Amino acid sequence: MNEITELLSEMSDIAQNPDMRLAACLAEGRKAVGVFPYYVPEEIAYAAGFVPFGIWGMQGSVREAGRYFPAFYCTVARMGLELALSGKIDKLSAVIMPSVCDTLRPFSQNFKSARPDIPMVFLAHPQNRKEDFGIAYTVCEYRRVKAELEGIAGVKITDESLADAICVYNENRAARREFVRLAGLYPSTVSALRRAEVLKSAYFMDKSEHTRLLLRINAALCALPHDPQPGVKVVTSGIIADNANLLDIFDRYGITVAADDVAHESRSFRVDTPIKSGDPLTALARQFSEQSDDPLLYEPDLDRRGRRLVDLVLNCGARGVIFIMMQFCDPEELDYPNIKKTLDRASVPSVMIGYDQQMRDFGQAGTSLEAFSDMLRTRLQ
Ligand code: SF4
Repeated sequence: MNEITELLSEMSDIAQNPDMRLAACLAEGRKAVGVFPYYVPEEIAYAAGFVPFGIWGMQGSVREAGRYFPAFYCTVARMGLELALSGKIDKLSAVIMPSVCDTLRPFSQNFKSARPDIPMVFLAHPQNRKEDFGIAYTVCEYRRVKAELEGIAGVKITDESLADAICVYNENRAARREFVRLAGLYPSTVSALRRAEVLKSAYFMDKSEHTRLLLRINAALCALPHDPQPGVKVVTSGIIADNANLLDIFDRYGITVAADDVAHESRSFRVDTPIKSGDPLTALARQFSEQSDDPLLYEPDLDRRGRRLVDLVLNCGARGVIFIMMQFCDPEELDYPNIKKTLDRASVPSVMIGYDQQMRDFGQAGTSLEAFSDMLRTRLQ
């Protein structure tokens, strides 16, 4: 048990202190590139020798970024710019900025205007990602990203280094998926907060190092006897769910995250790159083409994501779904009514909690989650 406690604590420290992690990485002679959400092929940056650093905003207040964004923009964008304006990402060699939603497109331009001194690699994914022409477009974009990163790093990214990076990332995705499964089985050992921190720490570590620690945690969890207090299992859904005060409520009311459909968590590692596709850039484009059930991606079947959530609930033995709804996130808000209908049709209870990264008071969320967990327990009896 001590080994797990120590490893979880180590990853918690990393998740809570990305600044220190970045400083340590630079002190080792590595260079880092900032990666904004979503679907950035980090493998390309990794193959250039960079440590990709995830930038998903931060907890706190929006101050300087208010000069660029009105208050009705999501805090993922506003806090991301706040980080840039506060000097916290000054040591990055560059940032990669995708544009998969209507907020990220203007964000990229605001970033360029706010921090012209930090090189920004823009990335446009196609909406029609599955067809051959969509894959060809993605390859074209990835080739440009590769060329820009080569220029910034001053190195040539070879097919071999890219293939190696893809293997490192596939191994890490597999380890994270296994950790998610095990965390749902051992909530007394892996609290909701620790679970989120372990997953978050991946954004600030060389993925091979993260995999090494995670494999030790997974092995130690596998060796444990059954958890005597499995809690009431749920599936979480949303953009990001890393707030300690919110997750403390889960632990307080015995709510176990058995699986998730959270962009910051499982949505980012559920699809591996088919390395056997030959050309590594084409393999990465195929990996993007195989992503689905995400409000950020074009999907003509409006019930699909809801059905996936129902399947997730059934497969992991969960009793309900908790939506953590990022305020002012149009894609999530537009998706919600259809998902809710699909869950209701399948008799899967759900609750929605409003969230943004400036929130400090979770009193209302606590009341909702207490009532929801009581209701799920009553249904179990
Ligand atoms: S998907 Fe939603 S939370 Fe993410 S950047 Fe776009 S609007 Fe913001």
